Formats: sequence, structure tokens, C-alpha cells
Amino acid sequence: MANNIENALYIVATPIGNLEDITLRALDVLKNVDIIAAEDTRNTSVLLEKYSISTKLISYHKYSESSRVELFLEYLKEGKSIALVSDAGTPLISDPGEILVENVLNKNYKVIPIVGANAAIALISAIPRKKEDFKFIGFMPRVKNQIKETILKNSKENLVFYESPNRLIETLEIIKEEFPNKKIAIGRELTKKFEEIKIFEISEMVEYFKTNTLKGEIVCMLYADSNDNKKDLTIEIKKLKALNLKDKEIAKILSALFNINKNEIYDICIKLNQK
Ligand code: SAM
Repeated sequence: MANNIENALYIVATPIGNLEDITLRALDVLKNVDIIAAEDTRNTSVLLEKYSISTKLISYHKYSESSRVELFLEYLKEGKSIALVSDAGTPLISDPGEILVENVLNKNYKVIPIVGANAAIALISAIPRKKEDFKFIGFMPRVKNQIKETILKNSKENLVFYESPNRLIETLEIIKEEFPNKKIAIGRELTKKFEEIKIFEISEMVEYFKTNTLKGEIVCMLYADSNDNKKDLTIEIKKLKALNLKDKEIAKILSALFNINKNEIYDICIKLNQK
């Protein structure tokens, strides 16, 4: 395999916790390239030591991306091979590397992905999500209005995002306040000793994390608004009608409760009246 190492930039996925989650091909590439460009050389050293790899490490983090590009292009020009790794998981997925990849491609060198762990994919591979498509947005914005806007804009998508444990409760509270009927899945410390995956209604999730450990790394998937809500509403509408509420009032109440346009609910009320 060593002979197969090319004059190229390898994008090598490394573990997101469990150091055994690395492919044989990734280890082979890390062992045999000329240089490893690492987001944090100390962090990567732990992985390299475990697998007795002594390839030269050079730091490449988001603050040095631009200045390092020239150096790496020079190595490629000399016919060398480079592996890019991040602190965890797949480089360029909420991790640095884009500037390097763009420059390397512009100079017509090859970029070769060596596949492996990714926290977002790990979570969605282990939960039901009702439909195939999903949207990944990296880290959720921090400001309340931006969080609200992001969720509104993507209400029909299964929305996958990263969140820091320090901000999780605040973000969940904002979602609960603005979108009380959302369902959410959270993966914490995936592949590690205290790994857990929970799927709850948003209010239950807030309570859960208020009373349980909130340490470690977090990835979330906010479920797409379900079309089933409309079908379920028939029962709710009938209950409210039995209380002699007017269609407009019913539409207003259920719209606030289920995040569904009140005109759509009003139409269902009218149709039910005609039955
Ligand atoms: N490139 C990485 C990947 O492929 O998953 C993601 C890098 S991003 C800077 C780091 C974020 O990913 C963390 O803050 C956390 O939200 C998420 N993450 C990383 N490892 C995780 C794990 N073991 N369990 C849950 N989330 C994780």
C-alpha cells in the first residue's frame, strides 16, 4: 500500500472519540505520507502514538490556514504527499481545510478523501428520521433571532447541527419557547464511554438536560415539522368544537399550539362542518 501513496493532498478522517474508529487505509496513509497537517499537533500525537506512527506533523489551524497554504503547495511541487487531519472526525466538516483544498485543486494537484468518522452522520445513522433527506448547518447560531430564523427557514427539514454543552440549555429553551411542538434527537459523547442518544419532545429534552449531566460533545437533529399534525388536528378540532368555540378561535388556538398556519386549520374546520 505504501507504494500507492500519491503526490496528493489526502483528507483523512480520524476518530470522534474512540481511538479505534479509524480505517486501515487511514492508518496506512498517515504512516506513509511525507507530512501530516494537523489542526492541533498535540492532539494528533496521541492518535499517532497509539498506532506507532512517526510521520512529521505540521500545524494547520484556522488562524494559520492562509499562511500555511504556500508551504504545502511547495511540498506538493517537490513531489511530496500530505495528509490533512482535524482534531476529530472529517476535516472540512465544521473544521479547517477549505482554503487548502481550494488552492491545491487550483494548482491541479489531487485531493483524495480517506473516509471515516463524522459526528453528524454518527447521530443520524442511529435514529429514525422518517425521511431520507436532512440538512446539516454546522454549528447553530448563538443569537436568539438567528436561531429562530434558522429553524423557521428550515422547518420542513430534519435539521442537523452541532452545539456546545455550555450553550445547549439556552438553545433548547429558545426552541421550546418559539416552537413548542418540535421533536429533537441529541447525541452526546458519541463513540465514548458516556455515549447517549435521546429523542424527546423539546420540553422533555430541556427537563432531561437540566437534571442530567451536561458535559461533553453534542450533536442534535431537530425533526422536520410533521404533516401528520394536520391529520391529528381533526381530533383536536372536534374537541374544541364540542366546547362551542368558533372556527376562527379554534384556528388561532391550534395554530399557536402546533405551529401550523391558522388559515390551513380554518380550512379543515370548514371542511369538517360540511361533513
Ligand atoms: N469534523 C468533525 C466531524 O466530522 O464530526 C466536527 C468538528 S466540530 C469543530 C466539533 C463539534 O462536533 C463538537 O463541538 C460537537 O458538536 C460535535 N462532535 C464532535 N465529536 C462528537 C462526539 N463524539 N459526540 C457528539 N458530538 C460530537
